[in-house]
Amino acid sequence: MIPEVFIQFDPSDKHDRKGCFFVLSGPSGVGKNTLVNLILKEMRGIYYVPSVTTRAMRPGESQMNPYAFVSVEQFEDMIEKEQFLEWKKIHNNSYYGTHMPTILFAIDNGYDIITDMDVLGCQDAILRIPERIYTIFVLPPSMDELSNRLLERDADTAAVKQRLERVPLELGHKDRYDFTMINDNLEQSVNELRSIIQSVVEQRSE
Ligand code: 5GP
Repeated sequence: MIPEVFIQFDPSDKHDRKGCFFVLSGPSGVGKNTLVNLILKEMRGIYYVPSVTTRAMRPGESQMNPYAFVSVEQFEDMIEKEQFLEWKKIHNNSYYGTHMPTILFAIDNGYDIITDMDVLGCQDAILRIPERIYTIFVLPPSMDELSNRLLERDADTAAVKQRLERVPLELGHKDRYDFTMINDNLEQSVNELRSIIQSVVEQRSE
């Protein structure tokens, strides 16, 4: 089961201000996880908060990487106990949600965090904690490139089709984000994301 706060923060990463909460959105397959993993390797003091999901683990994934994988019963129990900042049923009716206790602990204790959410969940999160949230939308270079990336990572063509069907909904929300970026060249995208994060944290003093 999910512990109360599921990240062990290193006290030396604590800031004398509230933590900044970065949210990445963008169509499935656009490369959000790859970008975040590279950013975590390069930047000290920023933590990835795994979302909670009921979807099946893919090859190469493990518990907490990139999700906290739970059963439907566990997820619904967490909804009842109000443990989510937001949650949605996405694709094939799997649940995805953001673990409220971990997010609030990080913000209140001065730790900077990053996670990803679909566009609808992101709107809910902005309404609930507008002061500390910084939203970044990641665009694919093209639809062809996006479907190639999805097909490369998932042999299940029905699942890929489902993810592609959701793309127009996701893209329709991009103008509501604080920042938008195109994930074309990975190295450039990592640099861009790092600049966004640095510019935000350097401006925050409280
Ligand atoms: P995938 O199954 O491809 O990993 O992710 C499917 C979708 O779920 C992506 O659009 C991703 O941004 C979204 N997602 C991941 N975590 C969360 C979450 O905690 N809340 C919401 N609302 N969406 C999420």
